[in-house]
Amino acid sequence: MTKPPFVSHEKLLEIVRSHPTPFHLYDEAGIRATARAVNRAFGWNAGYREYFAVKANPNPVLLSMLKEEGCGVDCSSLTELMLAEAAGFRGGEIMFSSNMTPAGEFVYARGLGATINLDDFTHIDFLEACAGIPETVCCRYNPGAFHIGNSIMDGPAESKFGFTRRQLAEGFARLRGKGARAFGLHAFLASNALSEGYYPALARLLFEAAVELRDETGIAVSFINLSGGIGIPYRPGEEACDIELIGESVREAFHDTLAPAGMQDIALCSELGRFMLGPHGCLVASAVHRKDTYRHYIGLDACAADLLRPAMYGAYHHMTVSGKEGLPADHVYDVVGSLCENNDKFAAGRALPEIEPGDLIVIHDTGAHGHSMGYNYNGRLRAAELLLREDGSVARIRRAERPQDYFATLSETECYPRLLALAQRR
Ligand SMILES: *Cc1c(COP(=O)(O)O)cnc(C)c1O
Repeated sequence: MTKPPFVSHEKLLEIVRSHPTPFHLYDEAGIRATARAVNRAFGWNAGYREYFAVKANPNPVLLSMLKEEGCGVDCSSLTELMLAEAAGFRGGEIMFSSNMTPAGEFVYARGLGATINLDDFTHIDFLEACAGIPETVCCRYNPGAFHIGNSIMDGPAESKFGFTRRQLAEGFARLRGKGARAFGLHAFLASNALSEGYYPALARLLFEAAVELRDETGIAVSFINLSGGIGIPYRPGEEACDIELIGESVREAFHDTLAPAGMQDIALCSELGRFMLGPHGCLVASAVHRKDTYRHYIGLDACAADLLRPAMYGAYHHMTVSGKEGLPADHVYDVVGSLCENNDKFAAGRALPEIEPGDLIVIHDTGAHGHSMGYNYNGRLRAAELLLREDGSVARIRRAERPQDYFATLSETECYPRLLALAQRR
C-alpha cells in the first residue's frame, strides 16, 4: 500500500541545497484546498465558521493563510491569543477554548473581544470576578457517555473537560442572571476520529441538548461549536474522511432536530486542527547513522524534540525514503532520534527500502501537532519550518532554534556571559 509524499524527490534535493535538514515542510496548495473543502461542506449553514485550533500549528504565516480562506482561530493560552491578535484576527474571529484558565488570560481574551468558551461551572464566577461576563459566552459540555470514540480521548466521563448536563442548565441561567445575552454550546469528545459518523453523532447530541436546554431554561443558544477531532489517514490504506459527506450528515441532523424546534438560525462552528493541516506537513530529516545490534537502527538528525507524537502516544507516522519510494521494503529498521530515551523512535520494526547515511527520510503528516508539540529535552534544538508555496518557491517561516534560544531564559549568573560567548562562537 503506497502513500506518496506531497513533495517530489527532485524538489526535495533542490530544497536541501539551501535549507539544511531537519525541517518541517508545509504545502500551501494542500492547506488552501482543505480549507476550501471544509468551508464548502458546511456552506449550507449561513453562520458557519471554522476556527483553526492554533495549538496544532501556531505559525503566524499559516494562520494568515487560513484567515485569507475565511477561517477564524481557536486559542487556548495567552501566547496563542497574542499570535491571533498579531495575525489580525479580531473579536468574533477568535474563539478562546481553554481550561483551568489563569485570570490574566480571561482578561486578555475579553480585551480582544474573543468568544470565551467556559470549561467549568465555577469559571462563571471566576470570569465575572476577573474580567466581567461578556454578552456572548459559550459553555463546553461533557455528556459523560458517548459511544463513538478512540484511544486518545475515549470515555468523556474520564476526561477533565466540560460541564455536566445539569451544570449546563444551571450555568446558562446563572450567566443570563449576570448579563449574558447570547449563548453557545461546545463539545469535543473524540480525537483523530476516522469515522465519518463522529461529527454527525456529536452534532446530533449537541442539537438535542440545545432543544432540551431551551425547553428547560428558556435560553436558545445562537451557535453550536462542534470543535475538533476529525481524523486523518496516518497509515497507508486508511481512507481520508469525506468532508462533504460529513457536512451533509450534519445538515441532516440539523434538519431532524433543530428545524422542527424552530431553531434553524443557529450558527455552527468547528475548531479543526489535525484535519486542516495534518496531511499538509512533513518532517524531512537525513539518515546519519546505521547501527546493527539486536535490531537494525537508522539514526536521524531529527528527534522527538521535533515530533513528539510517536514517543508520547506510540502514534504511527508514515515514512518514505525520498527517491526510493518504488524500491521493495525489504529491510526492517527502528528509525530513531538522538534523545537519551529509548522511546525516541519515529518507527520501530518498520519495513523500508535499504537506507544509507545521507538518504532523505520524509516523515509524513506532521502539519498538525508536530513542531508545536516539540520540546527541548536533552538540550535538543527544534527544527526549522518551511513553506512550499503554490508557485513552487520555498519560504522559511521559522528558523531552527539556536543554542542562544535554549540559554535565553537562564538567570544572568556568572556562567551566563560565558554561555552566550560559546553560543555565538557556533
Ligand atoms: C486540540 C483541540 C482542538 C483541535 O483538535 P484536532 O484533533 O486537532 O482537530 C479543537 N478544540 C479544542 C478545544 C482543542 O483542545
